[in-house]
Amino acid sequence: MHSRDVDRDAPVDGGSAEAADSASGPPLLTVSDLSVAVRRRQRPLPVVRGVSFQLREGQTLVLLGESGSGKSVTALALMDLLPTGVEITGGQVEIASGSLRSLTPAARRRHIGSTMAMVFQDSISALNPVMRVGDQIAEAVRQRDGVSRAQARERTIELMARVRIPAAEQRYHDFPHQFSGGMRQRIVIAIALALRPRLLIADEPTTALDVSVQAQILSLLAELQEESRMGLVLITHDLGVAATIADRVAVMYAGRIVEITDADELFNRPVHPYTTGLFGSVPQMNGGGTELRPIPGSPPSLVAIPPGCPFHPRCPLAVDRCRAQLPTLENVSEGHAVACHLSQEIVNAR
Ligand code: SF4
Repeated sequence: MHSRDVDRDAPVDGGSAEAADSASGPPLLTVSDLSVAVRRRQRPLPVVRGVSFQLREGQTLVLLGESGSGKSVTALALMDLLPTGVEITGGQVEIASGSLRSLTPAARRRHIGSTMAMVFQDSISALNPVMRVGDQIAEAVRQRDGVSRAQARERTIELMARVRIPAAEQRYHDFPHQFSGGMRQRIVIAIALALRPRLLIADEPTTALDVSVQAQILSLLAELQEESRMGLVLITHDLGVAATIADRVAVMYAGRIVEITDADELFNRPVHPYTTGLFGSVPQMNGGGTELRPIPGSPPSLVAIPPGCPFHPRCPLAVDRCRAQLPTLENVSEGHAVACHLSQEIVNAR
């Protein structure tokens, strides 16, 4: 996992979906051509379309995008937690060499429960308000390890200390409302760690927290990951968070990955006009450098995705082809894939 200092106001310097990253070792998670749709009487409404990526042990992949881009639905699909009426309609998810779609629902739940855990944004609703926090962590320990109550209590106190809750032994008996938002999120992380996951999925884990607490939680996640070699998929709309923690970044727009590459490459050499738009600047095709301006318009509604490239109504570089033909993810360099008809011209214009 990378850990960078982030100046949020500074200009950020920083594959087909199968674009290989530069790391080695077998993948812990492989997502291939994943599609998810909302079931409707007429025809299904796609919300995630053909998403592919890989993650290795000890690596952090950030799914970055605005709200409605499909990043949270992708995470819920990985955890088999899609709400009723939303379903996987295509593709494969393999974790630790087990293909989730080939398993029965019960076997799938067991495989997910023994390999993955998830941390959500809202620590208040993730915790039981009338149960002591220590008991909530101990319950997860017993569920995972089947140990005695006394052993579970001992491990709970270790976990509370590991996520830096001061006076862990005394605070075992406190209720969630007696903790600050940042401390509650640490408890949620301790519950996830109690499950000894090989892969942790964190959906906007710091969004509800103020900036200094946010930094502490990100650095805690980085430390825990370093110690345990967990894979981490972190979902965020926040470039600063992505820049702080990502090894690799997949930028999502309208349910698809539009750019995926190593974090340094993305922050130094973004290619997709949406990515550069997120950074507050767009490339100038006449060699005139960059010009600061926000992305005009807003992301499309899922019921009215524009034809061709879904970004074309907002794209300053759009040409006729963009309005008619959907661009596919193509490599612009090793491990760097972009879904834009003009990606090569953008790279050449640098
Ligand atoms: Fe813009 Fe066209 Fe590229 Fe889409 S394909 S991002 S509209 S230039």
